[in-house]
Amino acid sequence: MLTKDRAICIRAVDYSETSQVVTFFARLTGKISAIAKGSKRAKSAFDGPIEVLSLGEIVFSDAVEEKLAVLTEYQQRPGRGGLRKNLFALDSALFAAELLNRLTHDYDPHLVLFDQFAQFLEDLDAQATTARRCDILVRLILFQLALLHEVGLRPVLNACANCQRPLASDWRECYFSSSANGLTCRDCEMSFPDRVRIGAQAANCLANVRQITGAQENTLDEIEHVLVHHFTETLGHVPKMARHVHKKLR
Ligand SMILES: [Zn+2]
Repeated sequence: MLTKDRAICIRAVDYSETSQVVTFFARLTGKISAIAKGSKRAKSAFDGPIEVLSLGEIVFSDAVEEKLAVLTEYQQRPGRGGLRKNLFALDSALFAAELLNRLTHDYDPHLVLFDQFAQFLEDLDAQATTARRCDILVRLILFQLALLHEVGLRPVLNACANCQRPLASDWRECYFSSSANGLTCRDCEMSFPDRVRIGAQAANCLANVRQITGAQENTLDEIEHVLVHHFTETLGHVPKMARHVHKKLR
């Protein structure tokens, strides 16, 4: 049976001289991996090699006993030219694609997340030539928070994840712990050896997501530091693209 869907390529690896194994995040289907036979030939059913972050309509046949589906058509939409002109925007998009790949399951659809990812890529692509680093960082952070929410891993960000005391401006110290799955207060932080200390501004931005848009670049870097820490703990390894995006804090 053939399935048609709108999809974004989130991973592509060479399978042979002429073929690729591609992973798509498809709107109605969820994540699928498929073999694209002959995709690297000049004349193929896929308009040339399939590129990561490209978007288009796919047709594929589910392989019942084999592991991979077979991609039979892919009409890539033109675009994404801007993204290739801004390395930080491109790295941020690749980082988001990596996280999406690692945190979603095959054939588990996430329509809202698909639309958010498509919008995230479109915004980065449109603004890549004029955007400042902090503008891109804002978009990446908002997508990462949306991703955690959609896959059911949203951390507790408006209170201490352990004692539920609400985050308030009189918190003199604030921490984030991946094992507590959220912010932890000064009284609870000792119970969570993986905690990292965060500043009041970064904590407030996490608690009030709207503030992220107007935050200073160093606050954004601090938030991204916390998120990279959280993704690292959740996945059990540092995401590959993290080092291209994440500025090590002093
Ligand atoms: Zn507490």
